[in-house]
Amino acid sequence: MRGLTLALLVATLTPAPAAAAPAKATEAAAPDPERHTLHNGLRVHIEQDARSPVVAMQLCYDVGKRDEPADRGEIAHLVEHLMYRPFAHAPQGYAVELQQLGGDFGAHTTPDETCYEAVVPPAALPRLLWLEAARMTALADGLEASALDAEREIVRSELSQRFDDQLVGEAWLQLQALVQGDHPYGRGLDDFRAGLAATTLDDAIAFHRAHYRPDVARLALVGDISPAVGLAYVNTYFGMPAPAEPRVRPPLPPDVGTPGSLHVAAEASRRFTLVGWPSPPVGSSDAQQLGYAASLLEELVGPNLGDGRGFAYLQVGQDSLEHGGVFYVLVSHPADQSARSVVDTLSEELINLVEGNYPNHVENVVETRAALAGRAARDSPATRASRANQRWGRDKPPRKRRGVDREALAAAVHRWLKPPYASFVQVAAKADEGLRLESWRGIQLHENRR
Ligand SMILES: [Zn+2]
Repeated sequence: MRGLTLALLVATLTPAPAAAAPAKATEAAAPDPERHTLHNGLRVHIEQDARSPVVAMQLCYDVGKRDEPADRGEIAHLVEHLMYRPFAHAPQGYAVELQQLGGDFGAHTTPDETCYEAVVPPAALPRLLWLEAARMTALADGLEASALDAEREIVRSELSQRFDDQLVGEAWLQLQALVQGDHPYGRGLDDFRAGLAATTLDDAIAFHRAHYRPDVARLALVGDISPAVGLAYVNTYFGMPAPAEPRVRPPLPPDVGTPGSLHVAAEASRRFTLVGWPSPPVGSSDAQQLGYAASLLEELVGPNLGDGRGFAYLQVGQDSLEHGGVFYVLVSHPADQSARSVVDTLSEELINLVEGNYPNHVENVVETRAALAGRAARDSPATRASRANQRWGRDKPPRKRRGVDREALAAAVHRWLKPPYASFVQVAAKADEGLRLESWRGIQLHENRR
């Protein structure tokens, strides 16, 4: 199914979205989580759930693709892989150790952060924390150059898998580049490949040394562990001295590129249109309302696309990034339908969002879905650990009303999804001329009304 391929592609190209904010449903009664900041800056969240037979751990470092030197693309991801290789303190490698402990594990690298997850039986928690602390502080001990070559190949093949559908992958990266400009968030496949080829073991170790440190890390434990015992373990294994100097992240250029329109490929059999805007930083109240706006747009735009001829696929979403990401609309449409007509439909619904002109039942569907996602996130120790880490240090959306707030949503759409900020990418046999200038008149007219 074409839609599924696209969904997977975009899912792997964009960082994992923050779990939908819980809607109006009240939080299930849960014991109070404990938060601490150790003397060395490590942020710790411990949440006991005696119903859980396991402990979920997530350790996130504030380091990601945005910290990569321009000529060392993918180094953050490569270091994530190296963390699993044998080194002096885990001669068989972390993976084998975790398997022996009866644990499960994973990791991911986004533009902003690199996170390591594991779920273990409670008795294995001390060993898990010891291992995590060892690879934070001493990964370079005994790490072999052959490990780098092996992982370079794996990362390379992950990249090609992710870009299996070259055409859509390229279009997506082009959209990111148009929206993000010079920002590291906007780097493309060529940068990733060149960086991978150029990175040496010394580069990787230097990157690890610069960014893997307690004062830029967040550790969350959720499950069958009492806060007192959990904190004692954390103090034992993560009590390393505070780094002498603050970590320096590379300065970031403005996160807004030059809006533009780009035609990607001459392929007659498929047509895609991507529209993107700069989106607000994750965790802000605008980002929360635009999350709802994305779901509303999927509900509202979907049935009206393709004149009822059954368009192939629609996806609306936003990146969850600290420095602002991309709010995107991806439409796969019949080959004879112009990108312009797709954009006209989208434009109409954006005006409806700004005017609050949409049915209550659509709002209810969106809120119910968010509430279910919130419930799922509360039920699993692993997702709760991940949410706890996401909450550190971010603005909190106003608490007074959760769910769709029509007025705040209209203001956010109006503030962020303005026509002059939009970038377009088309995949089609022939570009629609004047797409950007002509298609947005409807919403342009409303610009002066608020
Ligand atoms: Zn990987």
